[in-house]
Amino acid sequence: MSDDLDVLIIGAGIQGAGVAQAAVAAGYRVRILEQQAIAAGTSSRSSKLVHGGLRYLETHQYALVRKTLKERDLLLRIAPELVKLTPFYIPVYSSTRRGPGLIRIGLMLYSLLGGLRDTSRFRTVPKTEWKQLDIAQDGLLAVYQFWDAQTDDAALTQAVIHSAQSLGAELACPASFVSAQATADRIEVVYRQAEEEMRCTSRVLVNASGPWVNEVLAGITPPQSGLAVELVQGTHIVLDNPPPRGVFYVEAPQDRRAVFIMPWYDKMLVGTTETVYTGEPGNETPLPAEIEYLSNVFSHYFPTMSDQVLESYAGLRVLPKTAHAPFRRPRDTVLHIGPERVLSLYGGKLTGYRATADEVMQRIKRYLPVTEPKADTRTLGLHPVTDNSGC
Ligand SMILES: Cc1cc2nc3c(=O)[nH]c(=O)nc-3n(C[C@H](O)[C@H](O)[C@H](O)COP(=O)(O)OP(=O)(O)OC[C@H]3O[C@@H](n4cnc5c(N)ncnc54)[C@H](O)[C@@H]3O)c2cc1C
Repeated sequence: MSDDLDVLIIGAGIQGAGVAQAAVAAGYRVRILEQQAIAAGTSSRSSKLVHGGLRYLETHQYALVRKTLKERDLLLRIAPELVKLTPFYIPVYSSTRRGPGLIRIGLMLYSLLGGLRDTSRFRTVPKTEWKQLDIAQDGLLAVYQFWDAQTDDAALTQAVIHSAQSLGAELACPASFVSAQATADRIEVVYRQAEEEMRCTSRVLVNASGPWVNEVLAGITPPQSGLAVELVQGTHIVLDNPPPRGVFYVEAPQDRRAVFIMPWYDKMLVGTTETVYTGEPGNETPLPAEIEYLSNVFSHYFPTMSDQVLESYAGLRVLPKTAHAPFRRPRDTVLHIGPERVLSLYGGKLTGYRATADEVMQRIKRYLPVTEPKADTRTLGLHPVTDNSGC
């Protein structure tokens, strides 16, 4: 491929992967720069749920829930080996703040926003089945079951990058973005690969560098201030227990936040936390207080099981800076153009990556020539990648 591109993307997380796939499928010349490895950032440290986000109903994010439920169903169709429908259980106790009535209303709304499809069904689990779930029985009032999905976030990102590459996108990895200059009709980009300084031009630059988004933007001239964001760390712990029967959606007794207890291959995964992070992206690590918080939530609901932590990991959310607690802040992606021909992606959900990429293409098409599409990302199958030698 020449060094004159249509779309240059910084970051091979799920968002950069999605934009690369959408742009190459639309017929454009595409290159992705990744400084470390595919999914090295947040896209391997999420809760690994492909979901609409039942809890976002509490903050009235209905458009986000509807969009991601639609994407969840689409991913179940196009990536059946990577995205699996999973039963989700919500146990309601006499001590939990969200009572049975509220949970039922939430599930009815979730089902409605999910288009009342088969995957939107929910039920009340009969009392006779409660013991089989292995959860604490004291004070248990009701258990609800609905459907969402789980994935391996890094494997999904690999699969999307692989799909983009098979259509002709180029991946430079490891390759770090250094600087860019926007001119009237191109962006001139400098990056570093194998100790060498490389140059290319592109009609559009998409900054999908996740928690590094404003750092990358600061390297672009003419200078443009980014959006005011806060990085909020989320920690998970992996416990030495066999996987539970589904995803348990519980209320942390300490502060009433929603916490997930989930299967993760042959172990159990518990997450997550929300801790404001002020260090350099890439240096985030689980704090002892976060590990203790998650262990306590787990032991409260599964008192007879081991709380031995095998490993833990932390990822960073990019959230708008507001006076609200992280839980109450919007979770949808924000697209920001500036300077001209440079689009930066802020925040968003793993689940919505494909729809976000469509929105990105809509926003940047005015800088691009008309082309003949090669493929449609709504129907392109995604498969696990066995050869990871790409990066
Ligand atoms: C704790 C937590 C749990 C979550 N759980 C879920 C969930 O269950 N379901 C869901 O749908 N969403 C979830 N999310 C959200 C989702 O994980 C993220 O929105 C998504 O992974 C972000 O992807 P990204 O591509 O924007 O960023 P990243 O995955 O961080 O990718 C950015 C990439 O850019 C690269 N980069 C940075 N700077 C440069 C540079 N100068 N040059 C080259 N490359 C560069 C980085 O190395 C990195 O690979 C969760 C998020 C967190 C933090």
